[in-house]
Amino acid sequence: MKIAILSRNKKLYSTRRLVEACEQHGHEPMVVDVLRSYMNIASSKPEAHFKGEELPDFDAVIPRIGASVTFYGTAVLRQFEMMGSFPLNESVAISRSRDKLRSLQLLSRKGIGLPQTGFAHNPDDIQDLITMVGGTPLVVKLLEGTQGIGVVLAETKKAAESVIEAFMGLKVNILVQEYIKEANGADIRCLVVGNKVVAAMKRQAQVGEFRSNLHRGGSASLIKITPAERATAIKAAKVMGLNVAGVDILRSQRGPLVMEVNSSPGLEGIEKATGKDVASMIVEFIEKNARPHKTRTRGKG
Ligand code: ADP
Repeated sequence: MKIAILSRNKKLYSTRRLVEACEQHGHEPMVVDVLRSYMNIASSKPEAHFKGEELPDFDAVIPRIGASVTFYGTAVLRQFEMMGSFPLNESVAISRSRDKLRSLQLLSRKGIGLPQTGFAHNPDDIQDLITMVGGTPLVVKLLEGTQGIGVVLAETKKAAESVIEAFMGLKVNILVQEYIKEANGADIRCLVVGNKVVAAMKRQAQVGEFRSNLHRGGSASLIKITPAERATAIKAAKVMGLNVAGVDILRSQRGPLVMEVNSSPGLEGIEKATGKDVASMIVEFIEKNARPHKTRTRGKG
């Protein structure tokens, strides 16, 4: 099969591993930098070009679209969908997953366990917002944050008010969330491919830190997940419409709580922590499922 990997950089671990896995399985991979590709939309035959050449009709496309290029990246992916390529994750599902509020609303509608979460832009009554999520300690999150930046633990009501006020002054959207203390600074990343969790790792925060992000000094290790965690991760990916997803879960007294569903999960941490060849599992999923014009939305989303 001809397989496009939409990625900004060939040298990134995940991109390299996907190229390798495609080659090992006898396919022809091509890394396409989304920002440098351009498209003809108003034509009876949609086309995509890259470096002056028309791109071939790919059998499948693996999107590795970073959060900062979601808008253009999903447009390029949509073009491939219109051309009949099978997308590993559909453009609509990626856009949906990038909107944290929309994602949480969808997950909650389908009864998936979530931490008590409030969201606000410019609340008149901060006290009420705090009460709404069960009081302190609580976590305040900048909606646009990644890698744990903009995630603050407020232990007291006074601290919570100050942090919320500070964020309000910046005119940004925030999430106010119940703090899951019993997670003990750890979260679980479940890598879902199709309807299976193919690998799972525990990320543990450094001593004195509650954020387990590897970028914040957290460490990753192999973990055995419970049937409830497995079922939650699979359902969360399904609700989001993602074939491949990284589902982040907190272990709480009331069972698994989903924090986030990531549509372009990195492979480095999880492959190294588990020793599993996730890239090959992704390619094998494509082999089983790729058919021309099989996108549900065919770019309509
Ligand atoms: P980002 O998307 O920037 O990584 P997260 O929402 O995943 O931000 O939060 C970063 C880390 O903080 C998580 O990996 C987790 O360890 C911790 N964390 C986030 N929310 C909570 C919460 N409600 N209760 C306990 N720990 C949390």
